[in-house]
Amino acid sequence: MNGKDLLRRYLEQRREAGEHDLVLDQMSVADALRVLGARSADALPAAAAPAEERPAGASAPSAGGPDWREVLRSTGAAPDVPAPVPVSREPRPSAPAKQGTPSALPAGIVVGAPDRGLFSGGALAGLETLEAVAASVAACTQCPLHKTALNPVPGAGSPNAGLMIVGEAPGATEDEQGLPFVGAAGQLLTKILAAVNLTRDDVFICNVLKHRPPGNRNPAPDEVTACTPYLIRQFELIRPRAILALGSFASQTLLETKLAIGKLRGQLHKYHGVPLIVTYHPAALLRNPSWKRPTWEDVQLVRRILDSALGEP
Ligand code: URA
Repeated sequence: MNGKDLLRRYLEQRREAGEHDLVLDQMSVADALRVLGARSADALPAAAAPAEERPAGASAPSAGGPDWREVLRSTGAAPDVPAPVPVSREPRPSAPAKQGTPSALPAGIVVGAPDRGLFSGGALAGLETLEAVAASVAACTQCPLHKTALNPVPGAGSPNAGLMIVGEAPGATEDEQGLPFVGAAGQLLTKILAAVNLTRDDVFICNVLKHRPPGNRNPAPDEVTACTPYLIRQFELIRPRAILALGSFASQTLLETKLAIGKLRGQLHKYHGVPLIVTYHPAALLRNPSWKRPTWEDVQLVRRILDSALGEP
């Protein structure tokens, strides 16, 4: 892959992760220079400018080589590059610990209290089983999606599941079959679960939206408002030991935040007292295989929560 392809792929990944700040620490200086049409690497200064020539606040070059911003500036390829901010090679503070317990994770967002019922006698409080929720979803006309969808997709899996997995909305295959995550992304999800010894029968899989948005467009706010009570009722009935939120949409909806997925991963969030882990959506993994490794780390965390009593409310 040439430098331009690398840079494009990197930027697409950042955009998909909802990140707006650009830190080119994964790209070699030589690649960045080639993309920007700067002079050949051979003609570059062997070391960055002495301290007195560096802008105020600029850090010294790292032991791994000259700071890329300084090198770019010296070539004239990036005259407006801002003053360098030290780029730490240490793991992010929020990165999950490789060893240890889930409690070693940084605490994340807390939504709701553990000891409070989510419903206080609302219409769905009378739905006593997941089947009753599914029947109610099938009859739902609270938003326009029921008119265009082929089938409702309420969710599937065990009512006693330790893990509840929440995605965004049904796609075309799910709409045809009335089942969640049965298309290409779903097949990848099945493999991800198998990697931590979980089958689909061990978990409950559902989406924020229970009907497919036409053409897989993004869910609209009023659709989310109309559909969320079903998700909450499913959560109340299952009372899982952990929740895995797949992708930005499910994560942001459950955690009531606009933070990008890159900022939400690697933290132990709590949803009404239940540990919630955020990871990439399997559809995004199909486009960006480099996210498989962080996803693997996330599901390992989920496994550890399920295996321990530590994540319990
Ligand atoms: N993507 C989702 O978010 N949910 C599905 O059920 C399928 C694809």
